Parts: sequence; structure tokens; C-alpha cells
Amino acid sequence: MRELSLQSGHVTHPRLTLDDDVAAVRGVGPGMAARLRETFGIATVGDLLAHLPVQEPGKYRERAAVKPLAEAKVGEAVTVVGEIADWQEIRPRQGHGGKHRRASPRTVHKAAIVDDAGGRITAPFFNQPWVAKRNPAGCRVAVTGRLERYRGELQLGSARLTQVPPGETTVETGGDEQGLVPTYPASADVPAEQLTKMVRAALEAVPAVPDPLPETLLARRGLVDRDTAVRHIHFPPDHEAAHHARQRLVYDELLTLQLGVQQRRTERELEAAGMAHPPVTDGLADALIDVLPFPLTGAQQRAVDQLGADLAVSAPMQRLLQGDVGSGKTIVAAWAMLTAVDHNRQAALMAPTEVLAEQHHRTLTDLLAPLGVNAPGGPRVELITRSLPARALRRVLAEVAAGDVDVLIGTHALLQDRVDPPHLGVVVIDEQHRFGVEHRATLRAKGSRVVASDDGEAAPPRQPDVLVMTATPIPRSLALTWYGDLDVTTLDELPPGRQGVKTVVIPSHSPRRARLEAFVRQQADAGQRAFVVCPTVDESDVLTVDEGGVERSVASARATYERLAHGPLVDVDVGLAHGRLPAAERESVMDAFRRGEIQVLVATTVIEVGLDVPEASLMVVEDADRFGISQLHQLRGRVGRGAAQSYCALLTVDEANPRLRALAANTDGFALAEVDMELRGEGSLFATRQSGLPDLKIARLVRDADVVAATRDDARALLAADPQLERWPQLRAEVAARYDPERLAALDSG
Ligand code: ADP
Ligand code: MG
Repeated sequence: MRELSLQSGHVTHPRLTLDDDVAAVRGVGPGMAARLRETFGIATVGDLLAHLPVQEPGKYRERAAVKPLAEAKVGEAVTVVGEIADWQEIRPRQGHGGKHRRASPRTVHKAAIVDDAGGRITAPFFNQPWVAKRNPAGCRVAVTGRLERYRGELQLGSARLTQVPPGETTVETGGDEQGLVPTYPASADVPAEQLTKMVRAALEAVPAVPDPLPETLLARRGLVDRDTAVRHIHFPPDHEAAHHARQRLVYDELLTLQLGVQQRRTERELEAAGMAHPPVTDGLADALIDVLPFPLTGAQQRAVDQLGADLAVSAPMQRLLQGDVGSGKTIVAAWAMLTAVDHNRQAALMAPTEVLAEQHHRTLTDLLAPLGVNAPGGPRVELITRSLPARALRRVLAEVAAGDVDVLIGTHALLQDRVDPPHLGVVVIDEQHRFGVEHRATLRAKGSRVVASDDGEAAPPRQPDVLVMTATPIPRSLALTWYGDLDVTTLDELPPGRQGVKTVVIPSHSPRRARLEAFVRQQADAGQRAFVVCPTVDESDVLTVDEGGVERSVASARATYERLAHGPLVDVDVGLAHGRLPAAERESVMDAFRRGEIQVLVATTVIEVGLDVPEASLMVVEDADRFGISQLHQLRGRVGRGAAQSYCALLTVDEANPRLRALAANTDGFALAEVDMELRGEGSLFATRQSGLPDLKIARLVRDADVVAATRDDARALLAADPQLERWPQLRAEVAARYDPERLAALDSG
């Protein structure tokens, strides 16, 4: 509950509390109260104040002086008071190009206004038919906008319009004469002007909003108090005040989130005991590092240290290991699993596909070969997939249940009940985003059966240490919130000797295409190999518009293959691989490419994962603007795996495409993930939708990444001193109101 400390002083308005019905605000009748509730879910005074102005550049506007038109200058913001002479509706022209017309054409209603001195001006309103309906010809209005010249005529751009009572010459744009005017998300039912008035009335009637945070914290972070923030976010005296108000509200929103997530994690840790796996001198984990043919990268060493600290203590490890493709996650995971084996416990590694599970099995048995893997006395590593013959499966399952298998690798098949390792100590999940929360929980639960207890009492269930891995970079700011207090380790360094892939954006129809194709031929002659990736298999109705305005199908693998194999690359061995080929045929084409019998592989995104060909040094992507950033980054990851300098050419009709520009400028998957999040809008991100987080009202994870980090630290410190926030009841109430237990349970990523 929000309590009000009544202030002394003149009471010029009825006093309201934030919990009062919004209908109590001066000027809000029952009809408006109902519309506010229906349209925006605004029921109380507090809800109304939480309906924030748009936080985009230029959305707080300078109050404009009322001027006769004759005195206004082009480029200046002015308010014109006068009468609406007429309205003109302008229907958008139908674009040409059949089904590829632009989405949602804009309707324009143009007001002609005659000001009191007889000057005449027009003001266009885009997609707001209600403005014309509510203010018919003859209305006396004040119109504020920027005076601009359009097609030789003067008009008021970005205009806002208010009715002025007959006989008045001044405009009530909201109380005092100083400060900026906010822009509210509005609707036909609840116009922005009305919102401005209602919010102002509410602010005048509520006493100072109490602050939930310790003053020391505000001082340390340089934050304004809550009351100032609430008042200035609506009516800032200047842009700086608007900025400070936003900073404070962003901070509050993210701090509440971090407190909720971290409290939940503490509870979970109290619920379940884990197992301690302190380092064992001269154990298998140590031996693995010794027998590696290369030193660990700095990032791998840091990861091993961090994991080692997690494993050593009895609290269950909950760690995310993220690193670009090729950053060397497998070795780190193997090290963690062998640490469990050193304690006579078992480890399980789950991968999303059979190909990946098999690859892990092969890699691990190779890595552990010097340690006598699968030899008598050595560690036992086994693989379970759905394609394992029934007899072999039965044998492996029996050995797993007997505790004889030390490291078990598999797909979803690991989740079956009959997979029953008695001493599961470490669980690794690769490409964790491809599994659901329930899959992870199932695997984790397999470690909970240890009932040994020294004093004979029933011991609480024990949780294995869990390591989840991903090669799909999650922007740091998102990881900090999405995973709450899950510890994140990032392999931000590739093993030495890898050269960055040089990336260029090339217009589809430019002389550079011929030069590129000559380069492909030249690379093939030099023993290198090239991919040419197309968005579709066949000519289709997926269209694109060329630079000249001509429509054509986007590049298809089949047509591109025909063109190259019989044209520019006639003397090179060219292959074709796509998802419509039978699997065996596709495999054999890819094998031929791997062996070098084919030098150029024309393909669709079937090559996006799995194919590892060190001689491939050139990636050409046709109509690259058809792909997303992360897809292109994965495609580009197919080259640059050998010693030769590698190249990626992105062909496009849209040379200015920001995604392609970002790829050309960046080879770092994390930086690209940030760009992607910014371009797509975080709201539409798969990751945030999956997270179960309530929508953030004002904070933006990319823009406010530094606040995400700051609030995470501050939440930690607050909870360390006072786990239940007993000294800060208002803060505790705000956390509880926003993050109920059910919501937070959805955030558990273990
Ligand atoms: P990820 O799973 O992160 O994509 P991998 O673990 O498969 O990467 O490693 C990619 C390749 O790099 C493998 O061939 C691996 O042997 C090699 N590698 C891993 N760590 C190092 C290192 N420190 N130095 C050199 N090569 C390494
Ligand atoms: Mg891997």
C-alpha cells in the first residue's frame, strides 16, 4: 500500500491518494473513467500517473508561443489560434506493383485554419481521422506545430490541435507557462490533449510520492527522488529534467525485476541441497588439461576457474556458458564432467540433435583417448540416441543404472525414465534454447535420488550441478535479466590463429558480381572451396524488387546452380544441396564437397549447422537481405575454419540494409546480437517472449544495459544486508506486486 504523508500548506485541490479511483480526478467524468479503463487499463490515480509519455527523441515538445501567422518563421514551432475553415480528406495513392504494395497506406486529413488576423494555413493529420470528426469546420481551435513549406505551400507539420472555448484568445495547454509538453500514447476515445489535462490535474491533487529506496543508494547512483521523477516524466521543466526522470523510473523498474529474480533464486537454493565437487589433485579433470594438444585460451581458463568454484561448493551450480561457434565450449564442459567423475559421480551431456550428440561423442572419446577412455580402468563414455539398436540400448542402460558409465551423451532420449544413473553429479545441456524448461527439469531431477545420510535421517533431495551452453549469443543485458541471477560465463575469445572473415556487401546488379564470380573460380583453382547460399530452393512467388524497380523472384538454389554451372563456373565442379533432396543424396553431395571433389556448393540454409570444412574460404549469400542477422552469422561461421583468409560476400538489392551493414562491420556474435535486438525491437525477440517476464514499461534492455548491470549489483547488496527487505517495506511491496511467485517460477532456467 502506498501511504501518504500529508503535507502542511494550502490545500487548493481535493487530496487524492494513488489508490483512489481515477474518476476522482478533476475533469474525469464517469464516461471518461470507463474509457480509460477499457482502453488503457487505467483504474486508479496511480495507474493514470503510470501512463507515461512516449520516450522517444523529439516527443517532449517545446511550448510554442501563440503568434499571428504573419509573424511566424519557417522552421519555428508556433501555436495558431483561429477557426477551422474546412477539412480535406486525402486518400493515399495505390502503390503500383500488385501484391507488393506497401503495408497500411496512410490516410491524411488536412485542416485549413484561418487565424484571428485573417492568415490561412493548413495542417495535415496522418491516420487520426478522429481529429477531423471531433473538430468540425467552424470550431475554434489552437493548433501547435512546426511551420514548414510543403510543395510550395506553408503548413503546420506534426501538429496538435485543441479546442478553444469561444471568446478566448489564450490556450490552456496545461497550467504553467514553462516546461515541455509530453506526448501520450492516445486513442480515438482518449485523445492526447485530454490525457495531458487529466494527468496534470492528478499531479496537482496527489501529495508528494514517497520514495521506496534508501537515500544513500539514490545519492550513490545520482538519482532524483521518486516524487520528482513522477512529476518530471510528465511535465519536465526542460530536457535534462526529462532525462533524469526517465533514468530514475528505469532504475526502479529494473531494480524491482532484479530483486524479484534474486529473491526467487535464494529461495530455490534453500529448497534443494546440491553436491560438492572440489578439485581432485591428479584426477581426470587435471589430466585432460595436461593432455590437450594446445593451451586453453584465456577465456577458457577463466571459465574453468569459475566453474571450479561453483563445483567445489555444495550449492547446486546454475551456470550458463555462452560462446560463439568455435570458441571451445566442449573442452570446458568435458572438464566439468570429469570433475564429477573424479568424485565417483556420473555426468550427462544432452544435445538437441543426433548429429550434434554423435559429434560430441566423437570429440570426447578423441579428447579422452590419452586418458584410456573405455579401456579397463579408464573412464567410460557412452552414447544414447534414438537410432541405437534395441540390444545395444539395453546394454548401455543396464550399465548406466549400475553406475558403470561415467559420461553419458545423448539427445532427448536421455530424458526417458529408464535412463537411470544412480550418482548423477553434473548435467550439461548444449544449445539449451532448443530445449524447454521441462526438459531441463527432468534431467536435473535424475540427480535427486541420493538419500545417503550420516545420521540415518531422510536427507533432502540433492540437485546435480547444471551447466547450460549456447552458441546463440544472448545479449549481455538480456542474459542478466532473462537468466536473473543465473551465473553467466562468456567465452569471448577464439582460439589463436583464426582469422576474421572479411565481409563485403555487394549490390546484386553491379559489375562487382562478375568480379566476384571470377574470384570464386580463382579460389577453386587454388584449392579452396566456396558456398553459394540462396534463400529458396526453386523459383517461387517470393519476390524482390531490383534497383531498377523491376520485380523478380528471389534467388533460388536450383536456378543459381544452373546459371553458375553452365556459365561463369563451367570449368569448376559445382554441387547442389537443399532440403528437398533425399537425405542420402544431400549427404553424399556434402561429403563430396568435404573431400574436394566439388569445389563450389550451391545450397540453401541446410548448411547452416554441422558442416565443418577447413578448406572452405568463401561464402557468397544471394539476396542476403532475406536472412536474419543470426542466420547470416551462422552461415558465415561455415568459413574461416582453416588457415587461409576467408571472405563473405553478401549480395543484395538493398545495399543500405542495416543488418547487412552490421555484419560487414562486426565479426563478434555478441555485438551482432545486440544490434539484432535493437533493430528488431526487444519486444518481438523470441528470448523475451519466452522469458515469462512482465513487459517492461520504460526500461529498454539495450539502451539501458548499464542500468541493468547496476541494478543487479544493487539488488545483490540490498538482499545481502536484508534478505526479506524488512527495512524497506514499500520496496518489498512493489516487488511482490510485480513479481508473484508463479511468474518467477517461469524464470527458473535450471
Ligand atoms: P564450440 O563448441 O564452442 O563451438 P568446440 O568446443 O567445438 O567449439 O571447439 C572448436 C574447435 O576449436 C575444436 O576443433 C577444438 O578442438 C578447438 N579448440 C578448442 N579450444 C582450443 C584452444 N584453446 N586452442 C586451440 N584450439 C582449440
Ligand atoms: Mg559445440
